[in-house]
Amino acid sequence: MIATTDALDLSASEEPAIPAGEPAPPTGKQVAVVGAGAAGMACAIGLGMLGNGVVLYEARSRERMHEAPPLEASEREVFERLVLKGRIRCEYGRKLGMNLELSDLHLWHDAIFLGVGLASSRVLALSGSDPAGLVDAGRRVAAVYALDDLLALPVPQRAIVIGASRGAVGMAARLKQLGARDVTLALRHALAPDGREEEVARASFVRVRGWVAPLEVLRDERGAVESVRFEQTRLLGDCVVDTGGFTEIATHAVFKAVGRTNGPERDPAVRHQSREGDRIQVDGCFRTALPGIYAGGDSVAPRLEQGQARRHGLLAAQAIHADLLA
Ligand SMILES: Cc1cc2nc3c(=O)[nH]c(=O)nc-3n(C[C@H](O)[C@H](O)[C@H](O)COP(=O)(O)OP(=O)(O)OC[C@H]3O[C@@H](n4cnc5c(N)ncnc54)[C@H](O)[C@@H]3O)c2cc1C
Repeated sequence: MIATTDALDLSASEEPAIPAGEPAPPTGKQVAVVGAGAAGMACAIGLGMLGNGVVLYEARSRERMHEAPPLEASEREVFERLVLKGRIRCEYGRKLGMNLELSDLHLWHDAIFLGVGLASSRVLALSGSDPAGLVDAGRRVAAVYALDDLLALPVPQRAIVIGASRGAVGMAARLKQLGARDVTLALRHALAPDGREEEVARASFVRVRGWVAPLEVLRDERGAVESVRFEQTRLLGDCVVDTGGFTEIATHAVFKAVGRTNGPERDPAVRHQSREGDRIQVDGCFRTALPGIYAGGDSVAPRLEQGQARRHGLLAAQAIHADLLA
């Protein structure tokens, strides 16, 4: 495992192996991987083997996927096994910037990995390089890095906090303390019944709404947030799956706790450098300047060989996993 704070030499050619054996027990986290090239596929496999759910979004159609396959036969076998187990779900014909928005991915997933190859500059140009611009994206979804950041925001009467992490529960409790009347913590599964998070939520009068996955932020005709539409989830084997049932929760604002890291993205100056020419800037752990968003492969270092792009994907998977569990 890499330590999340260690710098990696992104140009090194040493190739870590695709993990073998059985995948780790589910973490309950779900990551969007955009781009099914060498970096994206390796990242999806790495994340899946570490116990995370992955949705792989690829611009090409399923039929065109046989062109230049980025995986060896043995790697493809691991990939197919993870698909069969429901750890990786593939959505083909989904092109970021066309029929897929970064702000939606941010709402649906705990983290995002961009492995879109040389198309990266176009993708980021569409979302802007400023984190506020990204998460706002006309939807008023606020990404807050840490509890203290809440002090800088107007406190809504009703709020939804998405996530089950300690950070999300702490954020919901803090919103109540700051005067929000009605705070709902919405999570894809249930909180551990006798865990610390449950205790904090109960003591702070935060309403816990388990077994729901956010789908869409709904707004009134003036653009103000009105509610969030969720899909109900359930446990199937050891995976959380969607049920096809829907529910809506009224709110004035939506928050997501995005782990505060000590990486350079905490430096406001770096926000304006998240894209340099045709490449996305990342730190040693493949984190972009945008909270919860990672990138690797040709997107961050054009003209890599396939093996190096795969290495990025695998190392990024380890970094994302470590950040999600931090
Ligand atoms: C002409 C050429 C020849 C090469 N020959 C070799 C070689 O012989 N050996 C070698 O090791 N390397 C070779 N390379 C390099 C190798 O192809 C790259 O290093 C590697 O493909 C990079 O992997 P990646 O995952 O970063 O990007 P890519 O492999 O480019 O994958 C990006 C993926 O993202 C998808 N995508 C793009 N935009 C979007 C979007 N907006 N939304 C959703 N999905 C999107 C694409 O369809 C694609 O599947 C060659 C490269 C080129 C250009």
